[in-house]
Amino acid sequence: MKTGEKDTIAAHLQKCGVSRRSFLQLCSTLIVAAPVGLSLTSKATAAQVAKIVGKARRPSVIWLHFQDCTGCTETLLRTSAPDVGHLILDVISLDYHETLMAASGAQAEAALRSAIEENAGKYVLVVEGSIPARDDGVYMQLGGKPAIEVVKDVSAQAAAVIAIGSCASWGGVPSADPNPTGAVGVDSVISGKPIVNLPGCPPNPYNLLAVVLEYVTMGRLPEMDAFNRPKFAYDRVIHESCPRRAHFDAGRFAAAFGDEGHRKGYCLYKLGCKGPVTHAACATRHFNEIPGVWPIGIGAPCVGCTEKGVVWKMGTFETVPIHLATPPETYPPIFSSAGELKVGAAALVGAIAGAVGGAAWVASQRFESSMEAGVSRIAADRAHAEKLKVTSEKPVVRKED
Ligand code: SF4
Repeated sequence: MKTGEKDTIAAHLQKCGVSRRSFLQLCSTLIVAAPVGLSLTSKATAAQVAKIVGKARRPSVIWLHFQDCTGCTETLLRTSAPDVGHLILDVISLDYHETLMAASGAQAEAALRSAIEENAGKYVLVVEGSIPARDDGVYMQLGGKPAIEVVKDVSAQAAAVIAIGSCASWGGVPSADPNPTGAVGVDSVISGKPIVNLPGCPPNPYNLLAVVLEYVTMGRLPEMDAFNRPKFAYDRVIHESCPRRAHFDAGRFAAAFGDEGHRKGYCLYKLGCKGPVTHAACATRHFNEIPGVWPIGIGAPCVGCTEKGVVWKMGTFETVPIHLATPPETYPPIFSSAGELKVGAAALVGAIAGAVGGAAWVASQRFESSMEAGVSRIAADRAHAEKLKVTSEKPVVRKED
């Protein structure tokens, strides 16, 4: 662990023997992880991003664990290519991290104090795990102090706080009913500091790196939504980019795990997929650097882990309401010539398809090229649309923007 004045990122990588090719690959991945919404990655090429990042001083990061499973740390380290984890740790200066450091007991306490003093006002505090707030925080003690006091103490001299994972963002697993410890997210116990929530169980580690590097290179945090989640990673629901979406639109669903539909890769909605109400980038930014490695990609329905009102609040197989059955009015009509939006054509198609079922059909048919094939499916798709009028007994708290 290194503390005090930091090298520039470029100088440190050179000292560690990291090749320019590896650094450029990391910058390319950052551009993919945050294609819009960050000043840093809005640059045209990985080389331009690398030039900016290379000049920045390595950001000091203090990482605290509270009520967690360490899964967020694991997702950072267990990349399919071990070099990636090391590279991330070379770019940032991880000055205190209980899982990765050798010290324990009094030595660990001294290391924490030293990291705070040497980087006061400059470090980014990353919090993993929820904070037990019930009964004055008696349910978790660190070095003889309640966890709630530790997080307040360490955040007091931080430049910014990042809550990584669902537990640190809003309580996560420990906050599930009956929540015996009164588990809450970081933003429930500290104030007066910029806080970024990166929910996910686990979150994508590139989102963390993108937020930290945006902060140290541009001097500001990314634009955030009402739940303090950076918009570059949480502005869309999974359903919008899901590779199984075509099956949803066409009414092809897996009805049971292992059935023919499941084996064919059909939509998992009827198995309780929460993708239609879950804001996250999992559908486009997969895990472990392996394409297709994410829950829906391997046949498991999304559980909605980035949404406080969904995961562990709804039943696993309970279906969520569909807010996006109707395509936005701004969609171009299907049968107009390219690049034109003809109101008359849209009205004609709408009249054919009819009401709600027809609108769902319109959405599903955006990719069809044959009028003949489309017309022959109206009746069948109306039947499917009727089946899609599924409403949950428990309303979901969020509505689409
Ligand atoms: S319901 Fe789930 S599996 Fe189906 S398209 Fe939407 S996100 Fe994908």
